[in-house]
Amino acid sequence: MESEYVEGDGHEHVAHGYLSDIDKFVDNLHDTLWPLNKFIHENPELAFKEYKTHDALTSFMRSQKGWTVTGSAYGMETAWVAVYDSGRKGHVVSFNAEMDALPDIGHACGHNLIAIVSVAAALATAEMARQHNLPGKIIIFGTPGEEGAGGGKVRLLEAGAYENVDITLISHPGIYNNSPMVRTTAFARLEVEYFGHAAHAANSPWLGINALDALIIAYNSVSVLRQQTMPGDVIGVSITNGGAAPNIIHAYASGVFVIRATSSSRLQALQEKVGACICAGAEATGARVQVKTIQGYADHVPNRILAASYTKYWNSLPDIPEPRIPPEGQFTWVKASTDQGNLSYAMPSVNASFSIPPGELKGPPHSPDFEKASGTGEAFVRALRVAKALAGTAVDVLSRPGLIEEVKAQWRRDMEIIREGGNIG
Ligand SMILES: [Zn+2]
Ligand SMILES: [Zn+2]
Repeated sequence: MESEYVEGDGHEHVAHGYLSDIDKFVDNLHDTLWPLNKFIHENPELAFKEYKTHDALTSFMRSQKGWTVTGSAYGMETAWVAVYDSGRKGHVVSFNAEMDALPDIGHACGHNLIAIVSVAAALATAEMARQHNLPGKIIIFGTPGEEGAGGGKVRLLEAGAYENVDITLISHPGIYNNSPMVRTTAFARLEVEYFGHAAHAANSPWLGINALDALIIAYNSVSVLRQQTMPGDVIGVSITNGGAAPNIIHAYASGVFVIRATSSSRLQALQEKVGACICAGAEATGARVQVKTIQGYADHVPNRILAASYTKYWNSLPDIPEPRIPPEGQFTWVKASTDQGNLSYAMPSVNASFSIPPGELKGPPHSPDFEKASGTGEAFVRALRVAKALAGTAVDVLSRPGLIEEVKAQWRRDMEIIREGGNIG
């Protein structure tokens, strides 16, 4: 891999030139982007309410030469699009900027860094297109509502935002991995309600139908099912309404079942089994059951050709951070879900995981400790390194003849295996 860059037939020399140009350009963005990062981190906003962040990012992008910016795009107040058009027909590369924070614990998922990476990477890619006269388009999508199964990217996808887009790139901070080969889990949420019949629990219980019993039977059935699930399967259950009072046969009970699996097809199979457990509760007690299925996220399928490109740039920059990117082709499994997964089913995608220096308690994402970690200058500098490698990946697609065809052929192969319920590795 390395040698391709150092000694080549001239074509690779250009690629090497891109690296040092990207490196310098992104380093020069440091002082401009730091206040923007700080502003986003210090103004955490919940899913689909990222108003300040939307305004800060769109006004920043409007100040950049050559970019056309649309705020409140595709029917979502806080979605936005910024486009740099080289003016010459070519490939279309895109970056997603997440913006939302978590209830009570602010930017504990580090989406401020995700936004900064995508802005920096897109600006660097556009600058390379300008300097080296590359054809094509560069797009940043401001993607709202990733947390809590909001599915902002799914809405953008369904609204046609990604039509004619060739690749989609994003990153996510954490404390364990540096990897462009991230597999996340597929995810679904079932909101379950049982309707029984109230009766006095002491003097005439036989007149009632116990909705809580139905829910407990479902809960216990799932507990039994867990012995025979696959290693990647996760089923979580919470009881959100456990009945009115202990001296009443409960007329109503409700719970939430969250299901994760390594692929969408596996998720479907697991969901059927969990559905049978839920029905068992109703069957045994005579309660009526109602299930609301919340569309979850698909698993993320990384494109290994794009990932190889990312790795080359990451490893060519000085001071490679620990941990190292795993050997080529090796997946990094993350037990979390993202709507970038849905995009990866629609086009080639990279969702690069990067580690930032952890806080005192070494808290992972969604902990107060990570909220602090994602606001530091060191985390910001690490994000800029990610931006350089993602920009390199995009520049490769714009500049290397035949690469996009290879990328898409890989994507088609992966999708074919996945649709047949197979395992891509
Ligand atoms: Zn999160
Ligand atoms: Zn996140």
